[in-house]
Amino acid sequence: MADLLNVEHVRRTFPRGSGDELLVLDDVNLTLREGEIVGLLGRSGSGKSTLLRLIAGLARPQGGTLTYLGAPIEGPARGVAMVFQSFALFPWLTVLENVQLGLEAQGLPLQDIRTRSLAAIDLIGLDGYESAYPRELSGGMRQRVGFARAMVVHPNILLMDEPFSALDVLTAENLRTDLIELWDKRQLPIKGIILVTHNIEEAVQMCDRVLMFSSNPGRVASELKIDLPQPRDRTSPAFEDYVDRIYVEMTARRVERLRAAQMVGPQGIGMPLTHVSPNQISGLIEALAAPPYGGKADLPDVAYEQELEVDELFPVAEAMQLLRLAEVEGGDIKLTHMGKRFADAELNERKEIFSRALQSYVPLAAHIKKVLDERASHSAPRARFLDELEDHMAEDAAEETLKTVVSWARFSELFSYNDDAEVFSLENPT
Ligand code: ADP
Ligand code: MG
Repeated sequence: MADLLNVEHVRRTFPRGSGDELLVLDDVNLTLREGEIVGLLGRSGSGKSTLLRLIAGLARPQGGTLTYLGAPIEGPARGVAMVFQSFALFPWLTVLENVQLGLEAQGLPLQDIRTRSLAAIDLIGLDGYESAYPRELSGGMRQRVGFARAMVVHPNILLMDEPFSALDVLTAENLRTDLIELWDKRQLPIKGIILVTHNIEEAVQMCDRVLMFSSNPGRVASELKIDLPQPRDRTSPAFEDYVDRIYVEMTARRVERLRAAQMVGPQGIGMPLTHVSPNQISGLIEALAAPPYGGKADLPDVAYEQELEVDELFPVAEAMQLLRLAEVEGGDIKLTHMGKRFADAELNERKEIFSRALQSYVPLAAHIKKVLDERASHSAPRARFLDELEDHMAEDAAEETLKTVVSWARFSELFSYNDDAEVFSLENPT
């Protein structure tokens, strides 16, 4: 099959306040062939939306090349359309007008615009809603308008940026199923689809190939071909096997990254932390300690049973691993001895366990504690630590890392933080 799109060695950076650059995409390679749905799976912030914008010609890379039907992408290309998570409809236009908008830029006769728009509306199951306004529609129907507006131009490539993630579970499932059915019967006026998602099941359900994205910088870390006929049965062993393989792949890489990060920096404080609350950690520990798990579980099972997305589950699992309350290996998560004690303990003992873990395994927490211990005032301004962190990571990562340590320290009463004064101190206000 012919290549619709080639992305080769693409690199994208953004200027940072400090004058240097944030490397978001590095050496990204991918190909989209005719007839394919390719999934991009990665955690938030890994650069997926940035890559879609490059493909859509809305931004330019600092390095590498993007080619669409053999020609370099140098600006918004006709034949590449995008569907967004947020629907992006105009509230003052009707469904029909919103859809027609997609075609008006092309200078077709009015009658053609109307005919094609009505056909797209019909195809995507919006028949009868032509004159409704977006506010009159449910989230699912609004996103159908988003699809119709993208399809009305008969694009060669449809780019979808987490198009189902703002919808409730059933609505999302309906829309996915409808879309796949239309695609499978070749009723969509589209030649290839790139689907960005952080939902592993969604990727396995819809895609012919799944590219797993790594973070910092974003890069295609591995690829998996999903060799199952459509429509796919989510409960079949083969389907679950693909889901498990992706979990294993993604956790293995994250654990590796975490181990590497724990060794970064002279005092190890340069380890970025994803914000996870002590409540989320306690919650997952309690769930794992209880039946049916008894201390050990398959990550996909936990995600499913706790109704968590990968993006929500991984950071919690990662935090537990960092604090040595659990071990993540392959696709499994297993409570450590300390994790089991935590599960059985009363609140005060939990705080003690947490406090010890913070001081032993989170260099930033130990560092802040030490500074506070050494100062006569036993206090220090937030800016002092933020500046220090920004030597190691981007501004937003530094903010998030500090916020995480604050919430962990508060829970364990290792030190306290006054939000109004932006001051850390050893005193615990009661
Ligand atoms: P994803 O879609 O995978 O969640 P994004 O592509 O939205 O990730 O963002 C990747 C990284 O690039 C983030 O750290 C984000 O802050 C940064 N970023 C994205 N767009 C810009 C921009 N216009 N200016 C500066 N930084 C940006
Ligand atoms: Mg995004």
